[in-house]
Amino acid sequence: MSNSVPAHTVIVGGAILGSFCAWSLRRAGYRGEITVVERDSTYQFSSTALSAASIRTQFGTPVNIQMSLYGADLFRNIKDVFGAEADIGYREKGYLILGGHERVGDRLAAVRMQRAYGADIRVLEPGELTRKFPGICIDDIGIGTYGAQHEGWFDAWSLPTLVRRAAKAMNVNYVECSVRGFDTTDSLVSGVHLSSGETIKCDVCILAAGALSGRLVAPLDIDLPIVPKKRTVFAFKTPFRLENFPMLFDMSGIWVRPEGEGYIGGIQPAEENDADADGDFEPHHCLMEAPFWPLLATRIPAMEELRLCRAWAGHYEVNTLDHNGVVGAHDELNNLIFATGFSGHGVMHAPAVGRGVAELITQGGFRTIDMSPLGWARIRNGIPLTESIVY
Ligand SMILES: Cc1cc2nc3c(=O)[nH]c(=O)nc-3n(C[C@H](O)[C@H](O)[C@H](O)COP(=O)(O)OP(=O)(O)OC[C@H]3O[C@@H](n4cnc5c(N)ncnc54)[C@H](O)[C@@H]3O)c2cc1C
Repeated sequence: MSNSVPAHTVIVGGAILGSFCAWSLRRAGYRGEITVVERDSTYQFSSTALSAASIRTQFGTPVNIQMSLYGADLFRNIKDVFGAEADIGYREKGYLILGGHERVGDRLAAVRMQRAYGADIRVLEPGELTRKFPGICIDDIGIGTYGAQHEGWFDAWSLPTLVRRAAKAMNVNYVECSVRGFDTTDSLVSGVHLSSGETIKCDVCILAAGALSGRLVAPLDIDLPIVPKKRTVFAFKTPFRLENFPMLFDMSGIWVRPEGEGYIGGIQPAEENDADADGDFEPHHCLMEAPFWPLLATRIPAMEELRLCRAWAGHYEVNTLDHNGVVGAHDELNNLIFATGFSGHGVMHAPAVGRGVAELITQGGFRTIDMSPLGWARIRNGIPLTESIVY
């Protein structure tokens, strides 16, 4: 990146990451032109709209914890930042992550690290687990960890809508068009080709195209290892209500949390059924019958009886190198900034990523959180920064 403030920033993708980058640039005092190119203003297939919209601090990578704490702080203070009308339905009910006896040692080490970075993680002994969360079968549980603060969920639609509206009010221009390619010089992206036939000149280009980011830059010979993987969410009701239920990550692979009057939950498909998703948003309906429901009923026997209300599928933007986001400039095209690849944790990290990208552009480096571990260098060198706590 050059030292002078760039005149025109073009952002590819206008969902949560693209919009937080735009909004944060304005908040950081950026006065140049900002154009967000988004191919679908309904956002119906964006990962953001189809996500479980939850936030956790229980990660294996320190920078992810720092970014979550930043996001939780913004969610808590949403009215102070976006105005009295702002409401994203943020509920801080915690994540409960269960592990088997064989995992106790490494989970305790992870908790020590998470606490060292400011996360308020409690280790629940089996008795405590039962008292706090009655209804969960703990026969085979070795360890349960629970985020007493900064973890919970919010509304997947309200947050991006709020940020987009605020960005537009600060003179960010959203254009509905598909990006088809890029003009480059030796070391810069100089223009962005649109499906309308127009080419927009740019001084900085931010890539925030979610699960399609890898494919979009492949013609530039950039090997960004991000692929779309289909993830199904089931929404269901049970005849009773478990009070104060958290977001539960079970050691079996299922996750479940309250949503409205009922619950949402899911499980990853087996690897052999997890091909890259090519425009395919048909839910993996068969996962409900097995393994999701039997595993759910084993962990929470009262959920043996449930009524499926609906199912949907969205695309995880999986970074196949290490399940972590990519944030920062490319080494050869050095005005191309990545803000993508969060592998299932991009909504919660979007506020921090937006801020970090804005700092890169306006101040030439990260100031609030050092996101350089998430930079392009590790991708170029094939040295993973593996996130161990993924769902
Ligand atoms: C089922 C599911 C559950 C999830 N749960 C959580 C969760 O609980 N917490 C969490 O933090 N994250 C969760 N995630 C992950 C999260 O949704 C993503 O990390 C996040 O939404 C990524 O944001 P994004 O803006 O990069 O991508 P997206 O929301 O996919 O947005 C990318 C945008 O780019 C646009 N675009 C793509 N190509 C082009 C092009 N060529 N031209 C113009 N526009 C283009 C798309 O139309 C889209 O609007 C979940 C994801 C799924 C699928």
